[in-house]
Amino acid sequence: FETEMARLAQLNLVGEMAAGIAHEIRNPMTTIRGFLQLFRENDRNMQKQYIPIMLEELDRANEIITEYLSLAKNKQSHQQAENMNRIIEMLLPLIQAEAVMSGKHVHYEFTPCPDIQLDDKEMRQLILNMCMNGLEAMHVGGRLHLQTYQEQDHVVLLIGDEGTGIDEHHLEKLGRPFFTTKDEGTGLGLAICYSIAARHHASIEVQTSPSGTTFYIRFPIPNSPE
Ligand code: ADP
Ligand code: MG
Repeated sequence: FETEMARLAQLNLVGEMAAGIAHEIRNPMTTIRGFLQLFRENDRNMQKQYIPIMLEELDRANEIITEYLSLAKNKQSHQQAENMNRIIEMLLPLIQAEAVMSGKHVHYEFTPCPDIQLDDKEMRQLILNMCMNGLEAMHVGGRLHLQTYQEQDHVVLLIGDEGTGIDEHHLEKLGRPFFTTKDEGTGLGLAICYSIAARHHASIEVQTSPSGTTFYIRFPIPNSPE
């Protein structure tokens, strides 16, 4: 619980992350500028070779900006009574398609759960970000497990993978904007998940070992009207 609170506090830093994003955007810009300079002196073949890289770098800068914007501190949640199972069922084909492309499996196990206050767009993003991480952490043949259940006055969403786990000294950095261990990572996926969870008054628990990682996201069930 204490690390949970520390993490929530950390999210307040997000508004002050301008330096971080400036750095992330400057890298692709420097690359593109370098190539443009080369183009002044070089032939068309070279341009053919480097233009795809420049486009990729531009896409990456764009992705970082888009993801960063969804972290904006005073972003409004539009929550209404929704069922978690319905949202997962809508997303499942997409997750399954992602899994198949990299030779992995998805298993979904649900129990009927009461409606909770959800912003469905945000919830889809949280689920997708976590599922993508799970899929990325696994080798071919690995299985991603999604589960919902009720636990006292909470609806629990469980997202588990059979991946390589999270290093102990990386655990405290989880959810920090721009923390990534991937070459092509933005390090914003989990930060977005934590900020969405906070807006939903949901807690996130992580259990990890070298044979996999499981995230438990617990959403409060609103009091039924007396
Ligand atoms: P990105 O996926 O772009 O690296 P994220 O914010 O989604 O950024 O995740 C941050 C880091 O947390 C990842 O680079 C990875 O090291 C770690 N991580 C997150 N989810 C998992 C998981 N399911 N298994 C192993 N490591 C994970
Ligand atoms: Mg990610």
